Amino acid sequence: MHKGAIICIDDERAVLISLRDQLSRILTERNYSIELAESGEEALELLAELNAEAIDVPLIICDHLMPDIKGVDLLKQIHQLYPDTLKILLTGLADMDDIVRAVNKANLYRYIPKPWDQADLKLTVREALRSYERDCLLEEQNRNLQREISERRQAEIMLRQSEARLESILNSLEDVIWSATADTLDLLYLNPAAAQVYGRPTSDFIESHSLWQNDVVHPEDQHRRRKFFQELLQDGHKGVEYRILHPNGEVRWLSDRARVIQDEYGNVLRIDGIIYDITERRRAEEKLAFDALHDGLTGLPNRNLFMQRVERSLALCQEDSSYQFAVLFIDLDRFKLVNDSLGHACGDQFLISIAKKLSQCLRGSDTVARLGGDEFTILLDGTHSINDATRIGDRILAALAKPLQLGDRSLFSSASIGIAVSAPHYHQANEVLRDADIAMYRAKSCGKGRYAIFDQDMHAETVKLLQTESDLRSALKQELFTLFYQPIVNLKTGALAGFESLVRWQHPERGLIMPNDFISIAEDTGLIVELGEWVLRESCRQLSYWQAHHPSAKDLIISVNLAGHQLKESNLADTIDQILEETGLDGSSLKLELTESILVENIDAIIGTLTYLRGRNIQLSIDDFGTGYSSLSYLHRFPVSTLKIDRAFIDLMMGDTENFEIVRTIRTLAHSLGMQVVAEGIETDEQLSILVSLGCELGQGFYFSQPVTAYEAASMISRPTDWQRNHTETLIMDSQAIKEQLNLMPEFPTINPSSL
Ligand code: C2E
Ligand code: MG
Ligand code: MG
Repeated sequence: MHKGAIICIDDERAVLISLRDQLSRILTERNYSIELAESGEEALELLAELNAEAIDVPLIICDHLMPDIKGVDLLKQIHQLYPDTLKILLTGLADMDDIVRAVNKANLYRYIPKPWDQADLKLTVREALRSYERDCLLEEQNRNLQREISERRQAEIMLRQSEARLESILNSLEDVIWSATADTLDLLYLNPAAAQVYGRPTSDFIESHSLWQNDVVHPEDQHRRRKFFQELLQDGHKGVEYRILHPNGEVRWLSDRARVIQDEYGNVLRIDGIIYDITERRRAEEKLAFDALHDGLTGLPNRNLFMQRVERSLALCQEDSSYQFAVLFIDLDRFKLVNDSLGHACGDQFLISIAKKLSQCLRGSDTVARLGGDEFTILLDGTHSINDATRIGDRILAALAKPLQLGDRSLFSSASIGIAVSAPHYHQANEVLRDADIAMYRAKSCGKGRYAIFDQDMHAETVKLLQTESDLRSALKQELFTLFYQPIVNLKTGALAGFESLVRWQHPERGLIMPNDFISIAEDTGLIVELGEWVLRESCRQLSYWQAHHPSAKDLIISVNLAGHQLKESNLADTIDQILEETGLDGSSLKLELTESILVENIDAIIGTLTYLRGRNIQLSIDDFGTGYSSLSYLHRFPVSTLKIDRAFIDLMMGDTENFEIVRTIRTLAHSLGMQVVAEGIETDEQLSILVSLGCELGQGFYFSQPVTAYEAASMISRPTDWQRNHTETLIMDSQAIKEQLNLMPEFPTINPSSL
């Protein structure tokens, strides 16, 4: 309903009231308020107020004769401000001239003569309002139409802009956008990116539909792509990855995601899709997958892949009992030497060449893998007998024996190989590998450069070894070890010079266990560090006690065997200092026995520790001297005071000129370097005599005494034993007997130690 106000203007209050009452009656069903103004001024104020409140004024009924202003002039003023408002003038007939002017001047809608006829007023007012409302309506309709037209124009502009934008996006995309018929897959649209992705102009696809439908796809993936389209029509949307071929033969990977487009009734209109080139991602994934299963240095399969292949072979065995396979575990002999002496880069090249050699020894269906370091494994699939594996073993050993050219160096290599063949009791790959590993250790301990085949005896031995290891751990906790002492004798005077302390394990079930049966296990497991520290402390404590209780023990020296692991411990010097302080033993009463191999393998790492210990007056001795592979020339680098000749030479010295010569050479060498010589394993009078005549300072062996308990050792200290009393006698026998003995042997040239 139209809302607004009708204003009546008259200077006579009574006329205004009467007008209002009549208008109220006329306008009952119309929603207009009736406002009254008694002067022109008041009317203008009223209009301004209504305008400010946005209240429409469709009609003004104004008296002509008013004291402040004539109605015609007032309406003229109003018309300038409110041209749409309809104006009716109330006037006497006498003013006809004015009226005619007013109609023109003030744009009068009508005039009504005073006194007015009520019916005329009613008709006129109604007609005026209707006409006003009609005009308003028309105006609004017009406005709406105008707005609609301009909106439509705007929408068209936006549509064109959006289309242009879309096209520019489609043209600038690196991904392929395509649209095709659903039934025949004929292309309807393809954006320019296709040229780059497919490596050919997009017009190729327009000219040949079959190119896009199938031919451009890699032959191995065509089936998958056809299946993708079938499933796409069923599911409505789908993705697939496949390869395509560029005209130059290059293979690229694409990811294609498509959607079936339907109309509102569900009829299939076409298929729209987007294609990404995922070649880089695929290559990265393939590289990751390859790296996860291959060794970075040699490119061979790694442990993971090898184990997978062995699992697969095990599964084949389970399905078919006649199926056989073999696993070879290969460890290069002395690879550490190559690495340490020639550097890691050279070591790497060496391993790469070995990997090539191994691969050349095999069929394509076999697997050679690098487990890490210098360890390789081989899986021989479908073997017929153990001979197949040993033949490969021989072939590998022969291949490795040929010199390997690294730059201007030619290197020889050898390996220890363990072989395990498939058997019904194998259920997991690591069981087969473990047994091949055990066999490899056997090959190594039997002298390297050979292969060994795993058998049940090795298995039993391994089980025993594992048991020993766990027993050793608890023995350490329960202090089940004890020390025996073997006297070391001064060969010039026959006097007791000291003892070597030798550890024994008092096993609750197996009785007294000798060190050869557990020291190497303790070394392999690192338990030797703790055990060695106990031996050191106990040895020092014991000698310190003897020295305190027996005056004759004052100058005795205790020799303690030291394992390689202990030397590598960074705090060995501190530990020894602490033990000496704790037990009150002087450093000069302690001698440490190290084997040659410890020294050779760790020259740089341990030289500092050895020098420190020597500074504390502790003596250093090389044990089992002569058995190591080392060259003798490194000896002067160590602050060593004693060489202990290995028992084997003493043992064989009698009938064997070569061994005799070795003993004499060692003695000469030692003396020229200012070192003492201790002969180990003296068992007979003859041996003793020769050693005395050769000028060996010290001796040790069953001839004097077996290793004995601390209690027995104490009695040797307090009372001279038989050999101490008989010593002079032996020496007298010497001069004659030894000369005779020596005369039996051929002449040897004197050896100059500097030529060694
Ligand atoms: P080793 O240091 O060369 O000790 C000498 C070994 O030769 C001892 O064997 C000793 O009993 C034996 N022996 C001494 N004289 C004769 C002889 O005239 N004839 C024969 N046939 N043998 C003789 P044992 O006590 O069985 O020790 C064997 C090896 O175990 C030692 O050789 C040493 O390398 C190691 N060992 C012993 N105790 C310890 C220890 O506390 N720590 C370390 N790291 N190794 C130890
Ligand atoms: Mg020793
Ligand atoms: Mg020895």
